[in-house]
Amino acid sequence: MAELLFGTGGTPHSSRTPSTVDGIKRIAELGLGCMEIEFVQGVRMGEAAARLVAETAAREGVKLSAHGPYFVNLNAREPEKIIASQGRILQTARIASMCGAESIVFHAAYYLGDPPEKTYNTVKKNLAEVMNQLKRENNRVWVRPEVMGKPSAFGTVDEVLNLCTELERVGICLDFAHWHARSGGFNSYPEFISILQQIKQRLGDEGLDNMHIHFSGIAYGKKGEIKHLNLKESDLQYVALLRALKDLHAKGLVICESPNLEEDALLLQETYKNL
Ligand SMILES: [Zn+2]
Repeated sequence: MAELLFGTGGTPHSSRTPSTVDGIKRIAELGLGCMEIEFVQGVRMGEAAARLVAETAAREGVKLSAHGPYFVNLNAREPEKIIASQGRILQTARIASMCGAESIVFHAAYYLGDPPEKTYNTVKKNLAEVMNQLKRENNRVWVRPEVMGKPSAFGTVDEVLNLCTELERVGICLDFAHWHARSGGFNSYPEFISILQQIKQRLGDEGLDNMHIHFSGIAYGKKGEIKHLNLKESDLQYVALLRALKDLHAKGLVICESPNLEEDALLLQETYKNL
């Protein structure tokens, strides 16, 4: 990736229609650089539609990623739920690849009372099976477990980075809002720098050259994330974050998940450019 691109999680509110194709066109009109296609309620896109999405994105110069369905738990108790979860990740990766997306993100698992190490090993084993299948299919999409905002959800920065070092083509979806909500910290320039340096240390220069970031304001309490907020209604130190990303030359996609979507994506892009 040549630079840091900014865009929205899902079709911008100001798109002509909620379709992915109109969303991509609107991203380009707004001067933004990327968009995440939301398959959070299920993958409901056929091959022909995906080809049209790929053509549109290439023509408009918009980079794409895709968010997999919420109904995934790679630490589920029931074998059939594991198989269904793996199937949803595979389905997202297949359609994302047809759309020309370079990454998919998903919420990997819940601990369900298991110790973190046991959960980690189960998630790793089940995700490895997904990655082996994608390799057999020659699907080169990056598969990115998301850093999660609630302590009940698998997905600390360390857990996701460990998966990245152990499994080929697995990357991190670094959700700074989630990590702030979950940890109560990580909301200052030195802390943002420390996470980015951790990524560089664990994943090498490639880690910072190929980032996938989720960002928004966030409301949180004792149990972590409550809901997403617009940046200016939240305590997120977004200028400090952008400064840290710029100072360490981070490249990749920044997907804005604030309720106002494109408004905050543009705010981030403008602020970043003027630093
Ligand atoms: Zn997510």
